[in-house]
Amino acid sequence: MELCKFHTVAFVVILFCFPIAYGWGTDGHFIICRLAQPRLTKAAANAVSQLLPAYAQNDLGSVCSWADRVRFRYHWSAPLHFIDTPDNLCTYQYKRDCKDGDGIQDRCVAGAINNYTTQLLSYGKASSASQYNLTEALLFLSHFIGDIHQPLHVGFTSDRGANTIDIRWYNTKGVLHHVWDTNIIETAEKRFYDSDVEELIDALQKNITTVWSAQAKAWEACNKIACPDLYASEGIKAACDWAYKGVDENSVLEDDYFLSRRPVVNLRLAQGGVRLAATLNRIFG
Ligand SMILES: [Zn+2]
Repeated sequence: MELCKFHTVAFVVILFCFPIAYGWGTDGHFIICRLAQPRLTKAAANAVSQLLPAYAQNDLGSVCSWADRVRFRYHWSAPLHFIDTPDNLCTYQYKRDCKDGDGIQDRCVAGAINNYTTQLLSYGKASSASQYNLTEALLFLSHFIGDIHQPLHVGFTSDRGANTIDIRWYNTKGVLHHVWDTNIIETAEKRFYDSDVEELIDALQKNITTVWSAQAKAWEACNKIACPDLYASEGIKAACDWAYKGVDENSVLEDDYFLSRRPVVNLRLAQGGVRLAATLNRIFG
């Protein structure tokens, strides 16, 4: 019993002492993919349904966090979930910023979106049949369009997208990055949606077709097949204006922060869903 207790404690310590975040939490990704799938054209919906693994049962949301689950097996994919920009500049430039820790160009979330978009454009063309794993390309793309909409996935370099900024979320110790991946969404679900993610999805869906309908058209706009640079530029701006703003090491973040930032999270989730659908529609259209 004692041994078992020790193991449990050790596991919990290991889990919480090394908070490495790779994107919205499971709910954030689930929400974005769930918002996207009903917006697909017939051609895109067919392609997605062909490419999804059978166990997903045609539910893109159920595999939207797959890229996080394979990050240890696919070690090379870890830098593809985010972009590090120069500290305090609050700007993003592809050439300057889209590289991994070793300085290898294109290895960031914007580069990954471009890469998997290109791969998916070969769908239905015989020449590419053996060249790419298009199921994985679809799961990566769906996940990364989500990640690039999490403001702190386009954060500062020295704090690793606020992963090293310790805060308190109400009574719980954590890091600022996790607040934006998970805490704001979960607190909103508990307080306003009966702890039911489906209710939050319904509310966002309704907003997209009513109060945001004109804006949603503008969110879809892209003069190429995929427009990750635009999303990344918005991301670092939101990170500076909302995520980092007013937060210091050991800040206690409560209602003031939660209630003023919740609309930003809702907006980014909605934009992520609308743009994922628009991108897949352009790819498979
Ligand atoms: Zn991720």
